[in-house]
Amino acid sequence: MSDHIIRATAADAFVRAFAATTRDMVEDARTAHNTSPVMTAALGRLLTAGAMMGLNMKGEDDVLTLKIDGDGPGKGLVVTADGSGHAKGYAVNPVVLLPARAEDHKLDVKGAIGAGTLSVIMDTGLKEPYIGQTELISGEIAEDLTYYYAVSEQIPSSVGLGVLMNRDNTVKAAGGFIIQLMPGAPDDVMTRLEQRLAVMNSVTSFLEGGKTPEEMLDFLLGDMDLEITDSIPCSFYCNCSKEKVSKALISVGRKDLTEMINEGKPITVNCHFCNKNYTFNTEELKTLLTKSLS
Ligand SMILES: [Zn+2]
Repeated sequence: MSDHIIRATAADAFVRAFAATTRDMVEDARTAHNTSPVMTAALGRLLTAGAMMGLNMKGEDDVLTLKIDGDGPGKGLVVTADGSGHAKGYAVNPVVLLPARAEDHKLDVKGAIGAGTLSVIMDTGLKEPYIGQTELISGEIAEDLTYYYAVSEQIPSSVGLGVLMNRDNTVKAAGGFIIQLMPGAPDDVMTRLEQRLAVMNSVTSFLEGGKTPEEMLDFLLGDMDLEITDSIPCSFYCNCSKEKVSKALISVGRKDLTEMINEGKPITVNCHFCNKNYTFNTEELKTLLTKSLS
């Protein structure tokens, strides 16, 4: 099943929903950053959420950033997504080794993230980007996003995210859903939704059973006139390029560029989001310096 996100409505459009399958996206992130299992799960959950949430943006150049700052050993996560299913991101500390949680033998994402904040930044080309920030209430990410939606955007929501690993630490399955109640939703819609969510074990159990995003939403909203309106491919994608990195280098200023040239050694610039390295030799740096003068 190739990675994709479905968009849907239910209950006379009082319910808005997304569901995603993101195995390749999370595996590509793992390969790029060489993350340990618990950080693969943490980053994978946030990437999955980002890819879904990004689809709410309308403009081609709009960028959504999800940032988690935590006091746990993983320190934090940064994910950005566009409005067409592309997401990229990194863990501040990609290699955290923690024992599985005693209660259910699952990866201890909460232990890796710790206490801290979740920031949601939406840059839609306006002068000031929209910034919402809430405390982490769990560190498991899905619950933190549910809390964010309730407090910062006043949208009652249910967010479920999951990443399953193979024994060799590659990603077996990943995915999730976001379900939101629109203003004015009748009480019985909320009650029925709560009942369905209560009998659902977890996203992980859906993933273990090989369920598609369509089947996930059908389970949760199937008796509420579910209508799938869209299916969008999604992927781990970084839009960095040598040209973009050059522009960043030019912007560091003439003084620093001159120092780099005088060192006489090539310099390497790393893209945090995809971990790709760009090397500039002295000749290339001199060309950039000339550009910075013009
Ligand atoms: Zn990159």
